[in-house]
Amino acid sequence: MTDPIEPFAVEANPSPVDPAARAAILADPGFGKSFTDHMVSIRYRAGQGWYDARVMPRGPVLLDPATSGLHYAQQIFEGMKAYRTPDGSAALFRPAANAARFRASAKRMAMAELPDALFLESVRALVRADRDWIPPAAGSALYLRPFMYASEVFLGVKPATEYHYLVIASPAGPYFKGGAPAISIWVSQDYSRAAPGGTGAAKCGGNYAASLIAQAESIAEGCDQVVFLDARECRYVEELGGMNLFFVFDDNRIVTPPLTGTILPGITRDSILTLAADMGLQVEERAYAIDEWQADAASGHLRETLACGTAAVVTPVGAVRGRDLDFRIGNGGPGDVTSALRDRLVAIQRGEAPDPHGWVERV
Ligand code: PMP
Repeated sequence: MTDPIEPFAVEANPSPVDPAARAAILADPGFGKSFTDHMVSIRYRAGQGWYDARVMPRGPVLLDPATSGLHYAQQIFEGMKAYRTPDGSAALFRPAANAARFRASAKRMAMAELPDALFLESVRALVRADRDWIPPAAGSALYLRPFMYASEVFLGVKPATEYHYLVIASPAGPYFKGGAPAISIWVSQDYSRAAPGGTGAAKCGGNYAASLIAQAESIAEGCDQVVFLDARECRYVEELGGMNLFFVFDDNRIVTPPLTGTILPGITRDSILTLAADMGLQVEERAYAIDEWQADAASGHLRETLACGTAAVVTPVGAVRGRDLDFRIGNGGPGDVTSALRDRLVAIQRGEAPDPHGWVERV
């Protein structure tokens, strides 16, 4: 098997977006709706390995209707950001963690595992090609979306023998319009996201497909996001549709649900565990029940709740609602610990603060 980690073939886009149009997009990028000039593409075939690694003009992918990924959803993805640093260069945040998680997702979905070095080089190559697309404003970044689907043309139900890996990039502004106001979350009691033994810890599209009806319910109920409970007892708080949760107490403790296989091991979550310990907080990974959450919020013992992820960074949760549930957290606004953790994380990501854990990689 060959793993071509030599420099990728680079085919520049002959008709890139014109600079004035790009500047207008970068001034107000929104999220996930505009894309850069290039993409990365790598193919895999069993027996041959990874081949045809290239940076090429961004464009449609032609699929045979019997492409197995369209039928049986062997599909995984990652989400990460390139930041503009004060000296004008580009920085990636913990890209090796995304590479490792992508491999873990591939393993769970019985897909070919892309070597970390190839993942890392693919992301660097795209950032180099599209570096002018990194929005400069604080709160903005270039969102990178590595993904892979089963490309074998075959309708048999079995792990595919061919895969197509791509990376696309999209300039992104703040995920929640208006920066980081406190969000309200809806407790899903009819739908669960992941069961023990399922795919909850993998970043596969199916997990998101399964979560959309609950997210739609949360919007219909006037909330911003949905929070899922454990599938077995419908009692323990797991995570949001695209973010992990932390609970901040009045006795210097911060709690987050443990990685038991049903939640995504967030890289922001892992970073916050480290930063919170650096700040002198006592960190606990433990199961936390919805009734504890409600009682602790009512008693004032729970001061803050925060949601975290690459897209939304660190966002305070101000209110929780559900069938027969309605409670506020703290004063309903951003708390001090949430703000301090957010500021510290953002400063490291943007290269504006010392990086004691070696998380930032210049490209
Ligand atoms: N949970 C889910 C379900 C997610 O989709 C994400 C976003 N990747 C997260 C948590 C946060 O993960 P990260 O901090 O690595 O972005």
